Amino acid sequence: MTPVTKTFLPPQEEYQAILKRAWQAGWITNRGQLVLELEEKLKERLQVPNIICTTNGTLPLQIAIKALQLKGEIITTPFSYVATTSSIVWEGCTPVFVDIHPKYLTIDETKIEEAITERTSAILATHVYGNPCDVESIDRIAKKHGLKVIYDAAHCFGVKYKGRSIFEYGDVSTCSFHATKIFHTGEGGALFTKDPELYHKLFYHHNFGHKGKEDFYGLGINSKMSELQAAMGLAVLPYFENIQKQRRDVISFYDQHLDFSRLLKVTIRESAIWNYSYYPIIFRTEKELKKVKSRLEENNIFPRRYFFPTLNKLNYLRKKNIPLADSISKRVLCLPLFYSLREKEAITISEIINSEV
Ligand SMILES: *Cc1c(COP(=O)(O)O)cnc(C)c1O
Repeated sequence: MTPVTKTFLPPQEEYQAILKRAWQAGWITNRGQLVLELEEKLKERLQVPNIICTTNGTLPLQIAIKALQLKGEIITTPFSYVATTSSIVWEGCTPVFVDIHPKYLTIDETKIEEAITERTSAILATHVYGNPCDVESIDRIAKKHGLKVIYDAAHCFGVKYKGRSIFEYGDVSTCSFHATKIFHTGEGGALFTKDPELYHKLFYHHNFGHKGKEDFYGLGINSKMSELQAAMGLAVLPYFENIQKQRRDVISFYDQHLDFSRLLKVTIRESAIWNYSYYPIIFRTEKELKKVKSRLEENNIFPRRYFFPTLNKLNYLRKKNIPLADSISKRVLCLPLFYSLREKEAITISEIINSEV
């Protein structure tokens, strides 16, 4: 069986050796030594001034919306994972969908301004597949209209843009360390901001609002990463370089063997250093996609329709058509991509696809 992704599991002894430190300390959560160490290592690895590790990649989005005190409408992309939209709704705001860019599949920055109303408070955009949004244009628009910017950078571990970590862009950036993501802690995630005051707020929000044991800075929730999660991160991190290299190889096998005369690829934005997190291909029609998908499944190969359906079709929202996102979402398929996928498998997958389009 070839799944769309396979979680990288470090050697169990290495995970256990790290866990042992938690046992010795008798301390398994509440920001123990392992979470603190993981945060230090990630700051260094990602070259960011600060980070707050969290228990998943969804609460950071909700905490960011709360900390920025967003109200009313938030401009967002319909082409992302459900958490991007659900967080907006969960925090009592209204998502306003803007169509995506045909080449990059991130929010179309040229269509943002026409969606701004007097109720708009922010832009929440996803660097989809680790491909950066047009952060400069979004920044310009946000400043002009007094809006906040949050980036759902769940796919972006290791991505750089113009020499800086992509997590440094926007008022707040978030990441996911879920088991299906390129760097993981089983379940986990992180918050990033460069603003010290905002950092303080995000920090206390993620820990019940605590100011010491008996006092509170303000409202909070519990989004702390546990020592058990941090131990997984510390065990995975030394392998990250290698995982990325292996994924890069798989991508070059697909690039060599797929016939792109009838398929489209997503363009990675210029000036970005990408992290090889997904391999999406776009078919000419949904019919073609379905045909290829069933043929692959007959061969025990399980690609995934990331992201389908689009988020403007969620049953708790008023239905609205977003033409390009709707169209691409019906035609895009993510191929299996993980550290241990062999060239032979990539060739088989490519040949099946080539024979059906
Ligand atoms: C995975 C993902 C999330 C949510 O992360 P979790 O860690 O699973 O909570 C949010 N946004 C996007 C775009 C994702 O892919």
